[in-house]
Amino acid sequence: MNAYSTQTSVKDRCDAIRRKLATFPRVSLAHLSTPLEPMDRLSAHLGGPRIWVKRDDCTGLSGGGNKTRKLEFLMAEAQAQEADCVITQGATQSNHARQTAAAAAILGLDCHILLEDRTGYTDPDYTDNGNVLLDYLHGATVGRRPGGTDMAAEMETLADQLRAEGHRPYIIPGGGSNPVGALGYVNCVVELLTQAADMDLGIDALVHATGSSGTQAGLVAGLAAVESDVHLLGIGVRAPREKQETMVYDLACKTMEHLGAGFQIERESVRANCDYVGPGYGLPTNEMQDAVRLLARLEGLLFDPVYSGKGLAGLIDLVQRGAFAGQKNIVFLHTGGSAALFGYSHLFSSN
Ligand SMILES: *Cc1c(COP(=O)(O)O)cnc(C)c1O
Repeated sequence: MNAYSTQTSVKDRCDAIRRKLATFPRVSLAHLSTPLEPMDRLSAHLGGPRIWVKRDDCTGLSGGGNKTRKLEFLMAEAQAQEADCVITQGATQSNHARQTAAAAAILGLDCHILLEDRTGYTDPDYTDNGNVLLDYLHGATVGRRPGGTDMAAEMETLADQLRAEGHRPYIIPGGGSNPVGALGYVNCVVELLTQAADMDLGIDALVHATGSSGTQAGLVAGLAAVESDVHLLGIGVRAPREKQETMVYDLACKTMEHLGAGFQIERESVRANCDYVGPGYGLPTNEMQDAVRLLARLEGLLFDPVYSGKGLAGLIDLVQRGAFAGQKNIVFLHTGGSAALFGYSHLFSSN
């Protein structure tokens, strides 16, 4: 097969999945397609493969980020069920909570957010600035819970209270990570591979930060559905590898079932590297801080301390160790999160 016919068939398979996605309820919340751009100063600095960035930090909603793609499908389901409010949860500096609050505002739904204190930080910038400030600005009702709380159970309790008051709540799981939300990242695969084909770009590997697993699950399912051999790697920010991969695999299987495209998910297609978590979720590492500073200075890009900064630290280290030797083009999926920088001002407020 020549390059042209290969690309045509990738595009055909993407079109088929695009038509499948079009059968699901969806509201338009994101600015799509997000740009796919080379990071040439970073690539030169590292002296390895050419590194590209898929700008899902530019999805547009309240500062952007990866949750907006998921919310397009989740909020449409909330509307279809005639919900009058949504409930979700996350860590104090949750980007997901902020994007949910903004999406609810657009659709005229009340938004209830439960924030779990997973770091124990008492710095007012952490507890009330950054994403938290934006949650309030979008009009969300914010409740706080101590670290280790069963947040899913707390959402159920709150939903019962709201129902008793005559409301119709729709619960969005943490990170929007369920088979409905993950469709947003099936959509991202279709978008990215179509974009790459139009640019005549052969992507060898796709790397991103993985947390509540919906992003990677959607990418795994999407890549399987379009029969792509792009090497996908999630950089973990919380759980150990085995647990993270199992979470992603289970959700990828459920997402494929929900999509109804009829492909098997290979367990080996789910790869997480959890060597860059450091002391724990939301707790900084030196490598993350170096990576965030480096990209701000080399590329004028903003990454975040909790997710994309650790993902980037992993990518940089792996490139330096030669893990991508022989590969030409690596795409880093920028999942957003720069609002959280203001919650971690103590790390970055001087040189
Ligand atoms: C939520 C989030 C992620 C991780 O996505 P999951 O779908 O939860 O795995 C990565 N980066 C940022 C900035 C996020 O907010």
